[in-house]
Order: sequence, then C-alpha cells, then structure tokens
Amino acid sequence: MKQYTLLIGGEHVATSHHAPVANPSSGDVVGYMPLGSEADLDRAVAAATEAFKIWSQVSNEERASACRAVAEKINEHAEELAQILTREQGKPLNGLGSRFEIGGALAWTRHTAELDLPVEVLQDDNEGRVELHRKPIGVVGSITPWNWPVMIACWHIVPAVRAGNTVVIKPSPLTPLSTIRLVEIMNEVLPPGVVNIITGENNIGAALSAHPGIAKMTFTGSTETGKKVMASAVATLKRLTLELGGNDAGIVLPDADPKAIVEGLFWGAFINNGQTCAALKRLYVHDSIYEEVCRGLADYASKIAVGDGLDETSILGPIQNEMQFNKVRELVDDARANGGRILTGGAPMDRPGYFYPITLVADVDHGVRLVDEEQFGPALPIIRYSNVDEVIARANQNPAGLGGSVWSADAQKAKRYAMQLECGSVWINKHGTIQPNAPFGGVKQSGMGVEFGAEGLKEFTTIQTVLS
Ligand code: NAD
Repeated sequence: MKQYTLLIGGEHVATSHHAPVANPSSGDVVGYMPLGSEADLDRAVAAATEAFKIWSQVSNEERASACRAVAEKINEHAEELAQILTREQGKPLNGLGSRFEIGGALAWTRHTAELDLPVEVLQDDNEGRVELHRKPIGVVGSITPWNWPVMIACWHIVPAVRAGNTVVIKPSPLTPLSTIRLVEIMNEVLPPGVVNIITGENNIGAALSAHPGIAKMTFTGSTETGKKVMASAVATLKRLTLELGGNDAGIVLPDADPKAIVEGLFWGAFINNGQTCAALKRLYVHDSIYEEVCRGLADYASKIAVGDGLDETSILGPIQNEMQFNKVRELVDDARANGGRILTGGAPMDRPGYFYPITLVADVDHGVRLVDEEQFGPALPIIRYSNVDEVIARANQNPAGLGGSVWSADAQKAKRYAMQLECGSVWINKHGTIQPNAPFGGVKQSGMGVEFGAEGLKEFTTIQTVLS
C-alpha cells in the first residue's frame, strides 16, 4: 500500500512515521498518510516564505495563466483524483459524489483563474489622485475538513495563489490522500514553494494556525475548531476567513406543491449524505401539506441506492467516519426517545462500514437535539408549523447562520420571507446550490468572511492606498 509523502518547496519529504487511512465502506487501508512534525511545518512555512518573495512580484497575467495550468492538470487527473477520493472519503464515484466533486474543483479553479482585482482610482482631480491597490498578504495557512476535501482545498489554494500569496495546506487526517495528490499535480505547473502540504494529526492544525510565519488563515471546519483557530490568530493578528458549521432551515410555505419540491428538498438535505456545511438540516413544513411532503420524501428516499462508493450503481455511500456515525445514531435515537416518528431508516445498516440509511424523522420540534444541533449526516428532522411569520422567527433561534431556503409557488413571496432569515445565503425553491461567482459565507457562528468570486478573492489581499 502506498506511503505518501509531504510536499515542501517542490520536493517530496518523507516522514519517519505514517498513519493508515481507511475506506469507510469497508475499513480497508487505502494508503498511509505521512505524520509531519512541527519541524516539517517550520520547513513548509520557510519554503512558502521564500517563494512569496518571487510569487508576489510576478505579473498578474502570469499568475492567471498559472491558475489556468492548474485547472488543466486537475482535468487531466480527474478520474485518478476521484478514485482516491472515493476510497478515502467513501462518497460514490457517481451521483453527486467524487466525479461531481472533482468537476466542481475544476469549475472553481477555472473561474478563479479569470478573476481580476484591478487598481481602483478613487479620486483623480486637481486636489490629487487616490488609488486603491490590492496586495497579497503573505503565507496563507489552509485547514480543510473531510467532507469535500478536494473541492474545498481548491477554494482555499486557488484564490490565494491567484492573488499572489503562497500556501501551506493541512487537510483533515481522515481524508488527506486526495489533497496530497492534488498538491503534487499542482506542483507540476507552479513554482516550488508556492503550494506546500503538511499532514498529520490535529496538533499540526493547531501549530499551523498559531505559526508566526503565517499571515492569514483560511479555515473550513466545525465552529468549535474555528474558535480555536481564531484564538490562535490573536498573537500575530492573522487575517481570517472562517467557514464553519451550519444548521440550515428550509421552510415550506402552505402554497408549495409537494410533488414539485420533493426532489429539491431531498437533495438539499442529503447531498453527500448530509455531510455538507450548507445542507438543509431542519425542515419546517406547513401543517396543511405536512403529511404529503413527509410521504413524498419517504417515497423518494426509497428509490436511492446506498452502497459502497466504488460500486458504480451507488448514489449515496457510508458516513465518513466513526465519530460522525456515532453522532448521527445518537441524535436519531434521542429524537425517537423524544417522540420523533421515524418515516424511514432510523438504525445502522446491517453490513460492515459506517453505513447509516437515509433517515426522516417527523413530529420533532425545537428542544430535540436533532433539530437544535448540526447532525452532519443522513438524518433529517421535519418540523410542523402553522404560522409563517412565527416560523421564520423560530428558524432564526439558532446560533448558526450559514444558509436557508423558502419553498413556495410564489417566488416573490418566498423571497420576502427568505430575506428575513439570518444567514449568509438564501435559496428559493432550492437549497445549497453554490456557484463560483456567488459569494458564500456564514453569519453568526457559521463564520466570517466569504469565499468565491471577486469578494472571495479580496479576502486574500490587503488594501494599499496610494495618495499623490
Ligand atoms: P473539524 O473542525 O473537526 O476539523 C476541520 C479541520 O481542522 C481538520 O483538518 C482538523 O484536523 C483541523 N483541526 C482539528 N483541531 C484543530 C485545532 N485545534 N486547530 C486547528 N485545526 C484543527 O471539522 P470536520 O469534522 O472535519 O468538518 C465538519 C464541519 O465542517 C461541520 O461542522 C461542517 O458544517 C463544517 N464545514 C463548513 C463548511 C463551510 O463552508 N461553512 C464547509 C465544509 C464543512
């Protein structure tokens, strides 16, 4: 089985220790992650610091074409990356799985390559000239989660590099291999030291976010860890982009047509088995159509093939890891004990691997953990309501504020309600559909800053104002 290496300053760096990475469908070891030390981290930051001296000075056009070349490399290696990703993450090759994720990584990389932040002239008259320049920040530390490891790595690396920064990335120890391979192929077209990778256990993430040589942290993961990253940033006032957990509400108004919305509701909630930051995690349905929506969702769920990610017929796979599997099981058991009506699923599947079936839980409300907490798995609570204004206020009673959606036959009405939701993105008659030109980020405890588009690119720059 392959032992992977770190990649620092354009060179493979072997470590003396490794940790196995297992396929969540079977428990089989799929490769060995290098266990980098704090000395390796220092080396990676030093390589990125050295590379920054040159990379921050190369022309805008040169950086754009380097990002285009990165996109072509991802395209060339798409199937290879998808195969590694399925083996370590568990998500199916097909459906909205690994091939879809690599397609997303490619689309975001291509889009970001074409972004630009030209000099803005704020004043040019007899009194003087004022120009606003965007400059790269320095070495960016990137920490990524295990749910969409390749796509999120591209969300961090590509805008950082496009804006003239250099990067040290640390992926989740649960899914490090696809990111190592991604960084290897990026290094085929980028100068040495522009993108470096260090892997290891969580202590390496803590050391990276506290490292004095890092000028900015871009972090995607849980709210709890995000707070630690923020605390580590204090000593050197690191810039921060934090994309954290969500508990997105979806609100179905009484005029919605259950038949027309069931498919969208289902995939809004169950994309990547619910292991998606901006998945629909609390579904509120008006009393008048509650049972019909519940029946429609259960019927749709019965047609979805759940199985080994490497099986070309699987549409959903296992939960990625034991901790998350136990959390989903615990939240569903708790909901059942508190009056939840299980429409489908409700107990682990009888097979090896972290398989938990699509689970729909009706007749639960606030105060039940499955509603109040982020489940991050294939279990959706369905809450009954009767007053629309009241339900919006109730949906806002949650510390998370990532996304939200309203479902209705009247798109204008839906938009009016949607804009009352306290979250960074709202969708009408769909949920969680992100795109590279639409800024994405959380409010409240779902994070700070945005990713994507020119607004996202700006987060990898500082402003220098030139007055003459
Ligand atoms: P996590 O917070 O456990 O881990 C994320 C990363 O942080 C991993 O690489 C981990 O090794 C690292 N880490 C752990 N302890 C650290 C520390 N003390 N200092 C620095 N880094 C440390 O999150 P996860 O379980 O991998 O991901 C799931 C969570 O991520 C969910 O809450 C989900 O909603 C969130 N998420 C958010 C977005 C978004 O864009 N808002 C996207 C994907 C996932």
